[in-house]
Amino acid sequence: MNDNCIFCKIANGIIPSATVYEDDLFRAILDIAPAHKGHVIILPKEHADNLFSLPENVAEKLMPVVKKVAAAVKKTTGCDGINILQNNGTAAGQTVFHLHVHVVPRFEGDGILPVWPQGSYADGEAAELAAKIRAEL
Ligand code: 5GP
Ligand code: ZN
Repeated sequence: MNDNCIFCKIANGIIPSATVYEDDLFRAILDIAPAHKGHVIILPKEHADNLFSLPENVAEKLMPVVKKVAAAVKKTTGCDGINILQNNGTAAGQTVFHLHVHVVPRFEGDGILPVWPQGSYADGEAAELAAKIRAEL
């Protein structure tokens, strides 16, 4: 646990939170400044700054928790859709540097999240870029 990290303290129960789910690896809580009421963030109990430093044994257990929590949020809020978001780095909007996954309930026409502009690739560019990314795996 990182003593200077607020999410370490919340995830490990040192700071109380509105918890919706807990197991040995994760705590899921209501976001303090929700996009909509019922907006949940899922925190690993072990500190990791972001996705790149998340241990494999935690990473592989994360998506089943995301799925379970998202289904419960959808039922409870009656939302029309759910966004799963996970920000890495300030450029991507990360403000708390303890990895967390957002589960955001969405309602038709709520317009709360920006959509990105639809770019394009020149001929052959996508294949070339895909090959470069594959080579890094
Ligand atoms: P990020 O921008 O890093 O992806 O998201 C950080 C999120 O954590 C924000 O949505 C913010 O509202 C939430 N947050 C920050 N501090 C606290 C806190 O002390 N308690 C809770 N429940 N949420 C927090
Ligand atoms: Zn932490």
